[in-house]
Amino acid sequence: METVLSIQQISKQYGKIQAVKKLSIEVEKGQIFGILGPNGSGKTTTLSIILDLIRANEGSYRWFGEEPSKESRKRIGSVIENPNFFPYLNPVDNLKIVADIKNLDYNDIDRVLHLTGLHERKKSRFRTFSFGMKQRLAIASAMLGEPEVLILDEPTNGLDPQGIAHIRDLILLVAGQGTTIILASHLLDEVQKICSHVAVLSKGKKLFDGKVSEVLAISDSFELRAANREDLIRVITTFPGFKSLESSKDIVQVFFKGDVNPEEINTYLFSNGITLNHLSERKRSLEQHFLELLQNNK
Ligand code: ATP
Repeated sequence: METVLSIQQISKQYGKIQAVKKLSIEVEKGQIFGILGPNGSGKTTTLSIILDLIRANEGSYRWFGEEPSKESRKRIGSVIENPNFFPYLNPVDNLKIVADIKNLDYNDIDRVLHLTGLHERKKSRFRTFSFGMKQRLAIASAMLGEPEVLILDEPTNGLDPQGIAHIRDLILLVAGQGTTIILASHLLDEVQKICSHVAVLSKGKKLFDGKVSEVLAISDSFELRAANREDLIRVITTFPGFKSLESSKDIVQVFFKGDVNPEEINTYLFSNGITLNHLSERKRSLEQHFLELLQNNK
């Protein structure tokens, strides 16, 4: 695997406010990496640091395995503020200005307009654009020059459901073409639907990171039932990895220390003389997991 971004122990303080605390994150090529956290958890500060817009008080980061440089910066596109273009110019003329600033030729403008679905509006003035179209133009502008990484801060903030769907599809399209995406969001749903990986931040600290699919696959507990409840309880408490149980009526809800698959439980019980007549897995959603993490960090 190829590491695109490596953040090591960065901290940022604004006066008395510790915005980011010893944060380390690794992003691999091809990932859609979500930085998820409530308002004020340090997401924008983190993105601003890795884009060299502000300086960390301590720690370091590397892009593409190297010290950040003008060259590495050219390989990164970003949208971290509200889209700001000239209202009386059409998207082509606006993108020409961006291309001039970035020292790129105009050949790529058509491609990014097609990519973002703005091609048919290429003659309309920016001021006639919906907020969603403005946001897409900002992404088009960030994609000029075919950057390898696209960084987005709260990409769907303030958009209506249709606008949100457009941006989501666009992010997935861009990622499908091989661009690594790093996005900050306070919306679980967004991260759950778009991202392959996530780091959860609270008060500037990383609480958790990993694959979104793994987070979703975490089994909170299993519900078990057998003809003889006492025997079931006696045997399941000897299962390696058993944590605790709650018993109500005939159902026994069992919690485990790590990830356990239902087949292992069934086989273990059966080989110890227990035949289950009910087994169901209760998965914890990313939302529950996220809320629990935040709760534990209070
Ligand atoms: P939001 O989603 O609200 O933008 P965030 O997760 O992006 O939140 P940051 O904007 O990075 O969080 O802010 C982290 C903390 O640092 C907050 O407490 C914020 O008030 C503070 N902060 C951010 N920028 C500054 C600044 N320029 N001066 C002082 N404090 C700041």
